[in-house]
Amino acid sequence: MNKFGYAISEEAKNDKYVPISEPNLGRSEMQYLAQAFASGWVSSQGAYVDRFESSFAEFCGTSWGVATSNGTTALHLALVTLGIGEGDEVILPDLTFAATINAVLHSGATPVIVDVEKDSWCIDPVSIKRAISKRTKAVIPVHLYGQPCNMEAIMNIARERKIYVIEDAAEAHGAAYKGKKVGSFGDIGCFSFFANKVVTTGEGGMCLTSSRQLNDRMRVLRDHGMMKNRKYWHDRVGYNYRITNLQAAIGLAQLERIEELLDTRTKIELMYKKALSRLNFIEFQSDDLPGREKITWLVSALIKDGSRDRCICKLQNSKIDARPFFYPLSDMKIYKPYSHSCAISRKISSMGINLPTYRSVNKKTIKKITGLLDGGSR
Ligand SMILES: *Cc1c(COP(=O)(O)O)cnc(C)c1O
Repeated sequence: MNKFGYAISEEAKNDKYVPISEPNLGRSEMQYLAQAFASGWVSSQGAYVDRFESSFAEFCGTSWGVATSNGTTALHLALVTLGIGEGDEVILPDLTFAATINAVLHSGATPVIVDVEKDSWCIDPVSIKRAISKRTKAVIPVHLYGQPCNMEAIMNIARERKIYVIEDAAEAHGAAYKGKKVGSFGDIGCFSFFANKVVTTGEGGMCLTSSRQLNDRMRVLRDHGMMKNRKYWHDRVGYNYRITNLQAAIGLAQLERIEELLDTRTKIELMYKKALSRLNFIEFQSDDLPGREKITWLVSALIKDGSRDRCICKLQNSKIDARPFFYPLSDMKIYKPYSHSCAISRKISSMGINLPTYRSVNKKTIKKITGLLDGGSR
């Protein structure tokens, strides 16, 4: 802890190791956590769960929030709540973290993997349209690396073809499309609060909805399928996907600081852009796509001269944890059978790099990274 009450890792303090990400936790998180602890409500009942749910829903512009144990259970809860399972198809992008497709497979439905857009790196509405069959029940747009999907096109297709939309907004807390926050477009919007996301609860997640019926159903399924008004009576096979009051306490404090958290990340991205602007083989994630207000999750860029792997190697050897983008799902044996052709996703994935993005990344860190990348192209 430093004098502001912030936790700073030994490595970062000693300028030895630069992690990809670090949670931004402060005094208020500690205070709320201590209050939750002292109240004795350490499991999933308690005032912080309700407050976190309603505050996050309000922040995103939906009527209800149902907090879950993590982002993957949020996605699974959304799928089963919409009645999606065996025999159904769910369309999702090739470029995403595997939790998106794992949740679909756990539901028993068949994933259908489609390509992404070249400029946004997010699921391509044209590919969605092409992949729709009689069995298609839902599409999961993933707001990748903080970038909103083209929600107008996607919602139009979904309305026309009568399929559900489950947003995966795990990496895009606070991003917006035409002034409306992501997570509020679809039937259900799913979030993760893992330690590397913008708002964290350690582990945690949330499903947002503006449908009273879906909200009620999600609450029952999250809590063992137990009837709300009849204790120990079950008319559906449910799950235990609850968050704890301790986690929700941290989440509420984080949410009260979200503008600051986002602002810090934006400033770091701007610092990188300024320092790296003279390296013309690096192209940063688009921030000027019509209607889309992206946030900075992990600073994301493409290294376009074929030296991506070499650059990452160099940074890693200098104890800087830069990361390659997600592998395309279609590259992995267990997911490949579900995939349509995904040429754009494969190309982006092979060029993509995530750079360290957390509060204490400073000019000095960025200068070091710039120096290493500069040599990397030659
Ligand atoms: C982090 C993440 C998830 C899963 O969240 P967990 O809380 O780790 O289960 C799902 N989808 C995407 C796109 C993510 O980045």
